[in-house]
Amino acid sequence: MSSVKNTIGIAGAGIAGLSAGILLQQAGHAVHIFESGLVSGGRIQSRWMHGYLVEAGPEFIHGNARETIRLLKKYKIPFVPANGKMYSAFEGRILETNDRSETWDQLLDQMKNLEKDLPFGEFLLKYFPGTAHEELRESATGFAEGFDLADTRTASTQALAVEWQSEDSGQFRIPGGYDTLVRFMEDEFISAGGKIWFQHMVESVNWTSKDIRLEVNKHPPYTVDKLIVTLPVPMLNHSATNLPRLLFNPFPEEQLNTFAQIGYGTVVKLVMIWKSAFWKTPIPDAQFIFSEGFIPTWWTQYPLDLPLLTGWLGGPAAENVSEKPDEFFLDRGLETLSDVFSIPVSELKNELVDFRVFSWKKETWSRGAYSFPTVQSHQARIFSLKSWDRRIYFAGEAFYEGLHPGTVEAALVSGIDRARQLLAEM
Ligand SMILES: Cc1cc2nc3c(=O)[nH]c(=O)nc-3n(C[C@H](O)[C@H](O)[C@H](O)COP(=O)(O)OP(=O)(O)OC[C@H]3O[C@@H](n4cnc5c(N)ncnc54)[C@H](O)[C@@H]3O)c2cc1C
Repeated sequence: MSSVKNTIGIAGAGIAGLSAGILLQQAGHAVHIFESGLVSGGRIQSRWMHGYLVEAGPEFIHGNARETIRLLKKYKIPFVPANGKMYSAFEGRILETNDRSETWDQLLDQMKNLEKDLPFGEFLLKYFPGTAHEELRESATGFAEGFDLADTRTASTQALAVEWQSEDSGQFRIPGGYDTLVRFMEDEFISAGGKIWFQHMVESVNWTSKDIRLEVNKHPPYTVDKLIVTLPVPMLNHSATNLPRLLFNPFPEEQLNTFAQIGYGTVVKLVMIWKSAFWKTPIPDAQFIFSEGFIPTWWTQYPLDLPLLTGWLGGPAAENVSEKPDEFFLDRGLETLSDVFSIPVSELKNELVDFRVFSWKKETWSRGAYSFPTVQSHQARIFSLKSWDRRIYFAGEAFYEGLHPGTVEAALVSGIDRARQLLAEM
């Protein structure tokens, strides 16, 4: 490793950009983070509504997300277990549900033992065919779409198997907001001498054997020695849309399909604030409530005693309606809850204080929520983990190989790994 001080650019001040930035700045380099938005944190967005904390983006920390938990402890950020029970609503009844049924274990075993990877939809039809398995196919598809935001026509069965098996270790949330973590990381980066340039959207990366020139909107170009790109995959995918994205000049021919092969899904989150937590009468200890309605997944703030319910519509179902107005989701949410709790919509409306819809497809800087593994994405990731000429690197939740794809943990770890790789390649 050389002791020369380099100027290192990082595109994006999300968790991956900050984690890479801290490490590189503390290693003695001059790090400049270019962020298109007004604040750091990217998809982490904690807001306040009527005195309640509302998370537009991530909310949960998996128990075995080691790097996230290490940082929460280091910064002394309180986090609490989200350890309520799961319930399912079915034909007017709400019953406690168990995620570890015998058929689910059979499904996981079959997924685990699959020798050649298959898209998950094909896998289900091949190994669990016919009407006898219809219910299992439906619930497995619902889980892959809702939780992983996966399109089952392309999602990797082997990757889902690895991830689903690691889902046993409980989860936590941060009562003061996920963005507390962002504020501590930002402080650590700036205290070490790092710079964050807000409202600096990197438009293109022009690189030669001598330097890397970043064209940044409405600002003069910046020249850096090395660059870590931490943007969400849709901003890199050159084969998909006509929306603005980061241009590379030159773009290595052999990398053209890499970004397109990583899956990426979206979510609509509906947060509802109520006069009182009416669900506590039938189910006082509920964490998750699953329904057959339009918005299939709901959660409470248990163990915190707050009159908040969050509805979650993920994957292709969210993709299809992501442009609808907020009132559309409010109406669907009220109808779903009316069926679940057998309370008329008019009564629910009287109980509702306020609501907020977060449709992530509409977010300019992320255009969706998070990545999912496709049959090709393992290869694509391996490819994208190699630097371009030991000078341009890719990090972010989508550029991570491990047990927690699509999470804050994935973003943190990928930022650290790419920063270490950059230092090793000096
Ligand atoms: C609704 C939702 C729920 C989620 N739930 C959870 C959860 O419960 N638990 C969990 O662990 N994870 C969850 N996640 C995933 C988690 O939020 C992400 O994996 C993680 O925050 C991604 O971090 P990142 O640094 O890779 O990307 P980002 O946070 O997207 O950071 C990239 C940054 O780049 C900026 N940018 C974009 N284009 C440009 C450009 N051209 N120039 C400069 N800057 C640019 C963006 O503004 C952004 O700040 C959720 C995500 C969403 C959306």
